[in-house]
Parts: sequence; C-alpha cells; structure tokens
Amino acid sequence: MNPRSIAVRAGRGAGRPGDPLNVPPVPASAFHAGGAIDYAREDNPTWQAFEEALGALERGRAVAYASGIAAVEAVMRLCPLGGVVVAPQDAYSGTRRLLGHLARQGRVGVRLVDITDTEQTLAASDGAALLLIESPTNPMLGVADVPVLVDGARGLGVRVAVDNTFPTPMLARPLDAGADLVIHSVTKFLAGHSDLVLGAVVARDPDVGAWLADERTSFGAVPGPFETWLALRGMRTLALRVERGQENALTLAHRLEADPRVVRVRYPGLPTDPWHARARTQFDGPGAMLSFELPDADRADRFCGAVRLAVHATSLGGVETMLERRARQWGEEAVPEGLIRVSVGCEDVEDLWADFAAALAEAAA
Ligand SMILES: *Cc1c(COP(=O)(O)O)cnc(C)c1O
Repeated sequence: MNPRSIAVRAGRGAGRPGDPLNVPPVPASAFHAGGAIDYAREDNPTWQAFEEALGALERGRAVAYASGIAAVEAVMRLCPLGGVVVAPQDAYSGTRRLLGHLARQGRVGVRLVDITDTEQTLAASDGAALLLIESPTNPMLGVADVPVLVDGARGLGVRVAVDNTFPTPMLARPLDAGADLVIHSVTKFLAGHSDLVLGAVVARDPDVGAWLADERTSFGAVPGPFETWLALRGMRTLALRVERGQENALTLAHRLEADPRVVRVRYPGLPTDPWHARARTQFDGPGAMLSFELPDADRADRFCGAVRLAVHATSLGGVETMLERRARQWGEEAVPEGLIRVSVGCEDVEDLWADFAAALAEAAA
C-alpha cells in the first residue's frame, strides 16, 4: 500500500464488532495480573497502536520515546563503550549537544563530518560504530547521498541510523535503502500540531527493536499515553499536511528567489539549488522546510518580528508556518547570521506570501 493509505489505516486494532475505530488513550500505571502487560513502563495499548502505525510506514519495528532526543540517546546506547559515532557537523543542535555530553563522559567518540560529502563521510566512518545521517540538514538543507553512504558503511561493518524527521516516511524510507535504524522527532511532522513532545526509533531488525523496547523499560524514557494518542491522531493526516506544506514551500521559494532583497534561498525543490538533482533521486518530494538569507541579523530579526500569519517560534513540522533566525540558537555559530529557517505550513499560500512580502518591506525599511 501507498504510505498515504498506511497512515490512515494502520494501528487500528482487530476491529471486532463494537470496537471503537481508534485505540483510545489508556492512562494506566498497572494492569490486572495475568495479562500481556503488567506495568505501564513496559508497554501500553496506546503505544502499541502508535508503534504499529509508524512501523508500517517505515517498514520496521517502531519503539516510542518521551522525546526525539530520548530516541537519539537510545540509539547511542547500541554503541559499545568508547565506540565512534560519525554525525553531521550541522546535525540538529540538540543531537550535537547530546553527543558532546556523551563524548565528555567517554561513552562515545564523536567525528563530525560534512554529511553531503560522501567521500569524507565514508573515510571518517572507517572503524566507527555508528553513522548518523540527517538529510536534508538543519537549517542548511544539504542533501546526503543516503544509498551510497549506507552501502559504504555496510561494507565497513558500520551501523547506520537516519534521522528522518524532515522528510517523514511520506518522502523517504531509509530502511528500504538499507539503513539499520530510523529516528524521529515525532514532535514535528508526524504529530504535526505543535502540541506535544514525542520520539521514536524504527529498527529494521526486529531483534534490535525488541532490545530497544527492553532498554526503554530499564532507562524509563517512556512516552505518555495521551501524547502518543495525539501523535497517532496527527499521523492520520500526515500525507495531506506534508503535501500542502511542500506545495506552499515551492511557491514561496520561487518568489523569495526572485526578490532582490533576499540574498539566497536554500530549498532542494528549486532547480537552481545545488542539491536539486540528488534530492530528486532520494525523496518523493522536496519537503516543507526551506531557508532563506537576508543581508544581516538585524534585517532578519525585523522580518521575524514583522510576520503576522506565520509564527515566530523555534520548532517545525506543525500545521502553522513557523520561522526563526536560526543563528540565535545554541550551537548554530556556523549558520549565516541572516538565515531564516521556515517550516512551511498548511495556510493559504497567497495569504502566506502577502505576510512575507509585508515583512520583507518592513525589514528593508
Ligand atoms: C527536534 C528534532 C530532534 C529532537 O526531538 P525532540 O522531540 O525535540 O526531543 C531531533 N532531530 C531533529 C532533526 C529534530 O528536528
């Protein structure tokens, strides 16, 4: 089945007469003895529904966590003590922050690479325990050559995890390309409404999935049943949201590119983008994330303060268009001062452009 249909159908239980169409949130700490679940740090029926749906979308065994970063941390525990993790130099800032902590404690070694540079990445992966890929990158929107990286890493005996938060399973399915693990900040596009924090790992090998679930019970980074239920509810409309967001993003990218006040637009859907050709072979669409640069921090700050429909906020993947000057965040010193990252939402595109045009005028005044 097409992922659009899977997102609607998967994780609904057996569907016996009289059953509700949706698995409800199950707020429980304990279950009557003798059944499949004893205690709610081990499992929960609402997690099972969510994990079944996400597992069907990514084609693996999904395990849900309290946050996206808890999911990244769980994957790091697959590395032996002192094992080397190769990660993008512009990986999500929270992931770099976590890797820094783990490296200082001696739990892992970290090599940061330009993940769009396949040769450099594979050279750094020799002898490593894990290659962590993000593509497109945040916020520079560089595109990694995932199939070639996966093949090369496998040849070196290196496990590969792909953070698929930006493309979502609507646009990329890294396990099909041979990756071992997929990571999601479910907080973003999967849940899609900016009203919860949740994470997930999807393992190609069911034994690895079972190991992760067992570790989750030991370490306790468990999701809440209400968050998990909301996330599954949001996932039902994933295809609609991603498709509208990327349609809007393409229109905005073309208009921003044509505007003389804009220094540069980074969006793999633009034919002029350096990653356009690679993105076309790797993704089923260019996605809903774009970045553009104004000449300096001052003008970018004024733009962010001037928008009325789009929201000035740091997250992404919601139904609402969200934007921020990315260099103001922790760990983003390498990002151009005037770069604005935009998570394009589901509003009417002409309303969005009117908002952007007015904010561009205000920023330039
Ligand atoms: C937000 C994000 C994370 C972290 O997820 P949280 O749910 O905020 O803990 C990890 N990776 C990427 C690409 C993200 O955007």
